[in-house]
Amino acid sequence: MSPLARTVLLMEQRGARRGRACPVCGAGDPRRIAYGLPAPELFDDPDIALGGCLVADDAPRFRCRTCATDF
Ligand SMILES: [Zn+2]
Repeated sequence: MSPLARTVLLMEQRGARRGRACPVCGAGDPRRIAYGLPAPELFDDPDIALGGCLVADDAPRFRCRTCATDF
């Protein structure tokens, strides 16, 4: 197995373990989407995407790092 294939496999396993994989491209390890008024440090956090002030009951919780799909 090539190093690249192994890396992809590890990423997929990590995404599966977290139970969060993009429904469009299958990438795991999405950014969390923060709603409401975020703390200032969240603006600089690469793991956080800002979803705005309004929080719907069915609002997506995650944003794909690869294709920017919210889910
Ligand atoms: Zn995606």
